[in-house]
Amino acid sequence: MEELNYQEIIERIKARFPAGTVQQRQDNGRAYIPNQVYTDRVERETGSRWDREIRDVEINVPHGYVKVIARVTIGPHYRDGIGFAEIASEGGKPKQLANKVDQAMNEAVREALDSWQIGWRDLATFNRNDWGGNPALRHLLHSDSAPLERNDPGLQPNVVVDHCCIFTNCGVQLSRAEWELLGKIPNLNRSKMIFCYKHIPDHYKRKLSPEDREPFVK
Ligand SMILES: [Zn+2]
Repeated sequence: MEELNYQEIIERIKARFPAGTVQQRQDNGRAYIPNQVYTDRVERETGSRWDREIRDVEINVPHGYVKVIARVTIGPHYRDGIGFAEIASEGGKPKQLANKVDQAMNEAVREALDSWQIGWRDLATFNRNDWGGNPALRHLLHSDSAPLERNDPGLQPNVVVDHCCIFTNCGVQLSRAEWELLGKIPNLNRSKMIFCYKHIPDHYKRKLSPEDREPFVK
């Protein structure tokens, strides 16, 4: 089995989602990404090698809430998330309890995943007036031109990446810039779909912004 490369997986997990992924709540207009999208992303990018565990469920009928603590594990690291749901009761009996537990559980898992910055690049645009516009997080809005891995002490920016183009009879070793470019293509699994710039299939190339493509077009 292919070894799980934590840094690389996290980088892919944080990559932008396709346009239209972010939705807006009916009630308060807040932007969000549906849980299924998060799960699908993590499932795919880790090759099912992740885990979620419910650590604690508290159902408090007198105070009208459900609290769930969930733990998500990817490779050697785990993150905990906490989720709440309000419950209404009728004559001392909670209403729709199973639904509410599910809701709190989903929120807890989403919060745990959120700490890996999944979906931040997508949500930042919708939260420009809030956290997305914060100068410290501006790199999220311009993340296409500022790869986050540069800040990663575990990775040297100038290390030559040993990835070779899989196009028939090509096999050329990708430059670091080409490798990073592949990481910007939504839904492209970089661990399998490795192409030098020339051989990136057109339908993938079209998903790249002109600014990203510019350095490669000579
Ligand atoms: Zn090639």
